[in-house]
Amino acid sequence: MSEMYEAACKVCGQTFKLFKLSSDRSDLFRCTICGEEHQIFSPTLKEMIGSSVKCNCGGNLSADAPPRCPLCLSTDITTE
Ligand SMILES: [Zn+2]
Ligand SMILES: [Zn+2]
Repeated sequence: MSEMYEAACKVCGQTFKLFKLSSDRSDLFRCTICGEEHQIFSPTLKEMIGSSVKCNCGGNLSADAPPRCPLCLSTDITTE
């Protein structure tokens, strides 16, 4: 199971859970637009990230994209 941690949005106050990222995790990507987390295990699919593998919203996936509030999409969040 993935480790999760609590986060809170500084803008709207929404609390939500995020996957814990660590340097040995190379299977977790975030949408650069909506911040949705996508776990991709297949090396083939990873190679297609940025071309044909995209978020449901049409955004690109990136391992470096910041976490976002799921409600207002702000990146201004606090984590414990
Ligand atoms: Zn998205
Ligand atoms: Zn928010």
